[in-house]
Amino acid sequence: METQKLAPFLAGGVVAAQAAIFAVQHAMKRSHDLLRPPGVQDEQDFLARCIRCGRCIEACPYVCLKAANDASGMAVGTPVLNVRDQACKLCEDFPCVNACPTDALRNVESRADVDMGLAVIDTELCIAMKGMRCEVCYRVCPLIDTAITIDYRPREGDSIHAIFAPQVDAEKCVGCGLCVERCVIDDPDLAIKIVRDREKAIEETHIQQARV
Ligand code: SF4
Ligand code: SF4
Ligand code: SF4
Repeated sequence: METQKLAPFLAGGVVAAQAAIFAVQHAMKRSHDLLRPPGVQDEQDFLARCIRCGRCIEACPYVCLKAANDASGMAVGTPVLNVRDQACKLCEDFPCVNACPTDALRNVESRADVDMGLAVIDTELCIAMKGMRCEVCYRVCPLIDTAITIDYRPREGDSIHAIFAPQVDAEKCVGCGLCVERCVIDDPDLAIKIVRDREKAIEETHIQQARV
């Protein structure tokens, strides 16, 4: 076939390839936001290793892991958490990690090795920031006084009442989501959420703190 006749086919092929690359990038972006069980190293490594066998899901005694649904693109069938429904309870022996036959979940010996994300408080929705006593997130945290502390501050223009503000330590919070599961606010937006990407979470926390 002459080059002139081939041109439309080649152009069509390039467009199709670009569309495929865009679709994969889009699916990866969505997948990067999913909350994963302990032991995931990074999303790409995880997706390459996870064979969607469901053994981690079956092994979880708290039924907090679910298989990602069809809307999750290429992550469909992989284990995800909705921490508002059921947070990870950071089991001492990590049955989910031990059940994984392909090491998609790995390198977790203790709670300190877990990195599921970082809790971010919405300072406009959190009632503690408005001067009410709550501290539920602080009390339920398995790493109380380490991952989350209470910062006592005087209230502007009020010499009697103080603010007992929960503060998440970005170095220590492992993203288990118990604080999110138990938070008393359902606005429907939550007063606390888990952001999987730590850098993004730290950035969001700075923006939130600047509002207080
Ligand atoms: S650590 Fe325990 S609660 Fe958390 S996902 Fe694994 S099995 Fe479930
Ligand atoms: S996610 Fe919440 S409950 Fe879990 S370690 Fe972090 S602050 Fe504590
Ligand atoms: S449980 Fe929710 S409302 Fe209460 S202090 Fe924590 S983030 Fe704020």
